[in-house]
Amino acid sequence: MIPPITRRSSLKAFGAATVFAPALIRHASAQTLPPLPNLAANDAVLLEPGQPGYDTYEPAANERMLLRPKLRALCKTANAVSVMVSWCRSNNLPFAVRSGGHSYEGFSQSASVVIDTRMLKQIAFDRTARTMTVGAGATLGPIYESIGAAGFGFPGGSCPTVGIAGHALGGGFGLIARPFGLACDNLQWLELVDPQGAIIQVDAQHNPDLFWAARGGGGGSFGAVTRFRFKIFRIPQVVVLGVTWRLPQTHARQLFKAWQAWAPHAPANITTFLRVGHAAGGLIELHCAGQSIGSVAEFKRELRALTNVAQPVSPPNLEPMSFLNGAKHFFGGPAPPTFFKAKSDYITSPLTDAGVTTLLGQLETTPSVVAICDSYGGAVTSVARDATAFSHRAGTLFCIQYFSEWTNAVETQTELGHIRTLYAAMRPFVSGECYVNYCDLDLTNWAQAYWGANLPRLRQIKAAFDPNNLFRHAQSIPVA
Ligand SMILES: Cc1cc2nc3c(=O)[nH]c(=O)nc-3n(C[C@H](O)[C@H](O)[C@H](O)COP(=O)(O)OP(=O)(O)OC[C@H]3O[C@@H](n4cnc5c(N)ncnc54)[C@H](O)[C@@H]3O)c2cc1C
Repeated sequence: MIPPITRRSSLKAFGAATVFAPALIRHASAQTLPPLPNLAANDAVLLEPGQPGYDTYEPAANERMLLRPKLRALCKTANAVSVMVSWCRSNNLPFAVRSGGHSYEGFSQSASVVIDTRMLKQIAFDRTARTMTVGAGATLGPIYESIGAAGFGFPGGSCPTVGIAGHALGGGFGLIARPFGLACDNLQWLELVDPQGAIIQVDAQHNPDLFWAARGGGGGSFGAVTRFRFKIFRIPQVVVLGVTWRLPQTHARQLFKAWQAWAPHAPANITTFLRVGHAAGGLIELHCAGQSIGSVAEFKRELRALTNVAQPVSPPNLEPMSFLNGAKHFFGGPAPPTFFKAKSDYITSPLTDAGVTTLLGQLETTPSVVAICDSYGGAVTSVARDATAFSHRAGTLFCIQYFSEWTNAVETQTELGHIRTLYAAMRPFVSGECYVNYCDLDLTNWAQAYWGANLPRLRQIKAAFDPNNLFRHAQSIPVA
């Protein structure tokens, strides 16, 4: 078996700190809530601090951003979401909308009210139409389990607890993205509670501007989605790859350059990522993993672009398996919430020698930070930049995610310092574009970095649809 590589285990593989300490939990202000809406038990569960179950629903993926809301409304129906949106609006209460709770910067957290769509987790699929309809609170693991058991697959990310809502609204990259596109590229329809509390239908014919914005504009800006319908694909088999090198800087630089010259241009069957970080003895560890929907022979042949450059620790592991087992391969084990910080860059022309040297040099001296490079190309970049709100299309080679994770609050400032230093050093070599699903509160020009030339249209849609900015968080789409 190839060792499973997830974004979490990748950090552990590089020796992240192991001491656990509880987060500093920020409490809600003392202001009391108005009388709660009258919702039946089959519509919603309303939880206030101290009530049984309140703590169970609290965890956020990033412990650093945890807030305790005065009210968590666990909605079971679109009607409940509508009632909660109207109640918050008429009582002038700020709120956040939550699905899987994986927002890097806690945009689904609130000290006031959380409209929580976690209980909207139904998953149904239609074999003939090759579509699935999922509640906004469904997470990727159960989605893959459900459709995978019937021989279907869906091109979403690799973490099973990520929520479909935040993921697909911001794009959604996974290890079959190059053949099938991003999660958002396969969106066909959604149901959404708008700022007036109305339940509306959104697709290419109904509210087409919103449909455009929902494919990459990010979560929490236009309304609370209650259901999505996506295209799914019959996938008889995937081939899963894992291969590792530990190399001195000079050879690591050659291998990185070989990966960036190969991965974004490889046959569209193949999607890989390259995880780069510090290894003992002054070496750099490079781990290439991914999936192909083609043959083992094709993947093996293609990998010569890397194995001819440097000898891996052991021969590449290539295993054919079902889509579901391929997805599970990257799930990793249960991981408690930790503190983390990430930043991202899109690379639109190959990193120069100086850029690669800077990246590797920084990683060598900051063992707790890794860089995970996701290869684009294929179906991801064959879509025009303005066809959907997700703008990182033609000309995008790969996305680098710089990632640091720790388990003790006292390490926070040191770790933030490390990742910020690395990020600052990379400025001369990158495009300035960033991935909204790897949101980053340090960015000053975040809206331009996330949406580029699509920003003016997103702002117009926001102004037309939510002029009072009811749906907002620190990096929601600004009203024009
Ligand atoms: C461990 C981990 C692994 C990841 N792996 C990948 C990966 O492989 N590929 C990738 O592309 N990304 C990945 N991500 C990033 C992930 O796609 C984003 O964090 C995504 O926004 C998470 O969605 P969520 O629903 O879980 O988060 P949430 O925190 O619930 O929501 C994220 C945003 O969407 C909004 N939102 C939530 N629910 C709704 C709703 N019903 N209607 C409208 N807006 C809503 C929230 O207000 C918030 O702004 C990963 C993140 C983590 C923490």
